[in-house]
Amino acid sequence: MSLIGAYDPDNIFAKILRGEIPAVKVFEDADVLAFMDLFPQSKGHTLVISKTSQARNVLEVAPVDLERLILGVQRVAKAVEAALKPAGLIVTQFNGAPAGQTVFHLHFHIIPRYEGVEVAGHGRSGMADVEVLKALATEIGGQIA
Ligand code: 5GP
Repeated sequence: MSLIGAYDPDNIFAKILRGEIPAVKVFEDADVLAFMDLFPQSKGHTLVISKTSQARNVLEVAPVDLERLILGVQRVAKAVEAALKPAGLIVTQFNGAPAGQTVFHLHFHIIPRYEGVEVAGHGRSGMADVEVLKALATEIGGQIA
């Protein structure tokens, strides 16, 4: 899917937001939902999505929704750092399939980096054990300030 197109209300993240498919949730408020990536690139890989916008990518989002989203990203990133004590954190997002985007509801990735541990490539990791994700979500959620 290119940068030009319409929002698909049946994308996976829209279904997660509507509770139609499960997700391991970390944090939720009126503006954002954070949940564990099912195919994590590293331990603690967390996604943060907008609840107020149907933008597919960062080019489409209204400034007010982007502001709410990025503040949520910062809040969750701080919690990931406090819970898991990584050596670094990647905060990123992809726009359009050629750039690597696979789910077309605007979202940010928070990907912890640990000393001496390689990060799996985007879209190249296997499915995680949901029980492991639940334990991580509890740890991270417990550090939300
Ligand atoms: P994108 O490729 O659009 O930047 O990111 C989409 C992310 O969603 C990927 O990192 C992928 O692993 C993750 N993902 C794909 N399907 C699911 C799912 O059903 N549940 C969860 N929690 N994550 C998913």
